[in-house]
Amino acid sequence: MTSLRCGAATDVGLVRPNNQDDYLADETLFAVADGMGGAAGGEIASRTAVAALKATFGADPTANGLADGVRNANRAVWDKAQERPDLRGMGTTMTAMALVEDRSEDVLAVVNVGDSRVYLFRDGVLDQLTDDHSVPEELLRAGRLTPAEAARHPQRNVLTRVLGVDDEVEVDCFRVTPYKGDRLVLASDGLYNEVDEEGIASVMRREADPEAAARQLVEQARAGGGADNITVVVVDVVDDDDRSARASATVAAAAMPSRSSAEARTGPTSRDEPARAWT
Ligand code: MN
Repeated sequence: MTSLRCGAATDVGLVRPNNQDDYLADETLFAVADGMGGAAGGEIASRTAVAALKATFGADPTANGLADGVRNANRAVWDKAQERPDLRGMGTTMTAMALVEDRSEDVLAVVNVGDSRVYLFRDGVLDQLTDDHSVPEELLRAGRLTPAEAARHPQRNVLTRVLGVDDEVEVDCFRVTPYKGDRLVLASDGLYNEVDEEGIASVMRREADPEAAARQLVEQARAGGGADNITVVVVDVVDDDDRSARASATVAAAAMPSRSSAEARTGPTSRDEPARAWT
């Protein structure tokens, strides 16, 4: 059995009047939703989406159930916006992750729409697993902007994909093999617009408790200006059924005797494979 331990924190920040982010941190299902839309719209959008995701995944706790959960979340927000003129135009991001079984192996299924993110902290290195669906990030991926230009682009907050503004939505899906010691960070843009990747990695290195780590990241985002709502969910892989030990042993057996196990782990059959897209 793969075992996870998680902690979460959310905060309105220092500028916004209300917190339109929502999150979920269940035993095997984790999500961050960043709502948008005037008056009460953003809060209703993110909460509606999280509730629909939870219900769908609860009935079908698989990778497909997770992706269907995001599609049902989209439909639930869309339907509510059609019923109530005051909520027209509301929407939400949704980034979610679930521990599921796939061909009798435990995997972490990750789904994303919008610009909330999932990071993987593994062997001391932080990697962003999800792609942001925002104007500058799409231009960056197309090679038309540099990372520095994207980071200060005036349309940084303009999303190219979001839940609730159409009756259908395209969902990005990834899968990650979980290894003991992995830490996954789900976050709304209120975190990463205030705290850079080195800052996030530094907290991951220093603070072993996921709840305390989530709280520290929120505090750092507030200290950085807190211009937006901030939500962080930290999920630690505390047991992996010895997958990590088996992967290291396989590589160590094939490696030169003089190589350290840390070096050996970076070999071709190591656990450092990138996240693979699965649809
Ligand atoms: Mn936000």
